[in-house]
Amino acid sequence: MDLKNISLEECLKLLKKKKISSKELTAFYLKEAEANKDLNAYISLNSDNAIKSAEESDKRISTNTSRPLEGIPIAIKDLFCTKDISTTAASKMLNDFKPTYESTVTQNLWDAGAILLGKTNLDEFAMGSSNETSFFGASINPWSKDNKKYVPGGSSGGSAAAVSGNIAIAATGTDTGGSIRQPASYCGIVGLKPTYGRCSRWGIVSFASSLDQAGPMTKTVNDAALMLDVMAGYDKKDSTSANLEKTNFYKNLKNNKKLRIGIPKQYKNDQLNDEIIKLWDLGIEYFKKNNCEIVEIDLPHTEYALATYYIISSAEASSNLARYDGIRYGLRNNSENINDLYEQTRSDGFGEEVKRRIMIGTYVLSAGYYDAYYLKAQKVRSKIINDFKKAFEKVDIIFTPTAPSDAFEEGSKIDDPIQMYLNDVFTVPVSLAGLPAISIPMGLSSNDLPLGFQIIGKSFDEDSVLSAAKIIEENANFKKEVG
Ligand code: GLN
Repeated sequence: MDLKNISLEECLKLLKKKKISSKELTAFYLKEAEANKDLNAYISLNSDNAIKSAEESDKRISTNTSRPLEGIPIAIKDLFCTKDISTTAASKMLNDFKPTYESTVTQNLWDAGAILLGKTNLDEFAMGSSNETSFFGASINPWSKDNKKYVPGGSSGGSAAAVSGNIAIAATGTDTGGSIRQPASYCGIVGLKPTYGRCSRWGIVSFASSLDQAGPMTKTVNDAALMLDVMAGYDKKDSTSANLEKTNFYKNLKNNKKLRIGIPKQYKNDQLNDEIIKLWDLGIEYFKKNNCEIVEIDLPHTEYALATYYIISSAEASSNLARYDGIRYGLRNNSENINDLYEQTRSDGFGEEVKRRIMIGTYVLSAGYYDAYYLKAQKVRSKIINDFKKAFEKVDIIFTPTAPSDAFEEGSKIDDPIQMYLNDVFTVPVSLAGLPAISIPMGLSSNDLPLGFQIIGKSFDEDSVLSAAKIIEENANFKKEVG
């Protein structure tokens, strides 16, 4: 049996029919994770506990008391707090941090019978687009060639590399400005950022609280739906969590919805490279073939989205990261007096990119600049939200590239923050508007690297997003030929 390329959906069937045990499956993935350490996809593995949990799942399966994800080993981005298990946010600051509580999303997964394989690598505090800002070193894109190392994207690069490199069946990610979608595109997998408020943020290390959202990273669209059904749900511990009925995305998934597809004219410009435009047109043909209507739409404030995002997310980050003072959490560099202790702990504990964000954030929030930057960014954010509202009067979903390029080589952008931030040009407008969006692999670039496309939906209409993704998935028939 080919356990390596298996989807979550197939695993559930095999487990149910007792063709395989959860213990075998979990042991297989732990072994593969060890054997592929060069991907640096995991920061830590949960080997002993995972096997114990798998044995318990096998007992449940044999007594027909299975839960929805019973016995499925999954990877968790190391930004989700896991009780008594190291949670680092890929920062020196939290290198020795073991939370005393569990995040709601991971608790939902364990309550549904999933098993923690390990915690995956990321950009430090989820700030980055390449996984290179991790204190534990960059994770590697499994599509890398012998002589060239490509980044897996970021910040959820470890999760994307783990799923793409077949060392996890599925994984969780978080997305503040594109961190699920962009690495999914670079690694040739499916990545879904749900509507803001769909999944609880409780117990996820905060980056920018008005944008952060958890979501699944999987091999197929069906798997994303299966994962999201478990991860989502109201949580009274998160005041921004939406109190909605229990979801059933997997059951509702259709591939024949007659959707109106919006193509934003601002995104299709001559700066975009030809191979992306060609694939985009191909995707449009797939939708037409499925009786969908194509409509040109206008998102006039898109050009301000990147600047708006980096002002707002950095402002929120500077405030959220004030808690790492050497007293309450993680690293402490002792000193003669309290001010020195703060200074030395924060200088030593945070990496360069995190310090850059804190500095941008404190600057745009400072008395003299608040109106010019932070307040203005909030006003532009409202305009971006309105652009989408207007567009969605005419269409059901919006179809765009996920990123302006395929994966880039390690080291090629890390010294140029502006180039790095430009990766997020198609993903941040969606984040600012809090909308659901998926990245779905479409094909390969001339470098033989995956290219993903983004499908954006109305607030809380993940059903249409998943259905449209299914149309692309079935037509593109993207085959993973990695490794
Ligand atoms: N690349 C973006 C940033 O660095 C997005 C990060 C994220 O979504 N967590 O802010």
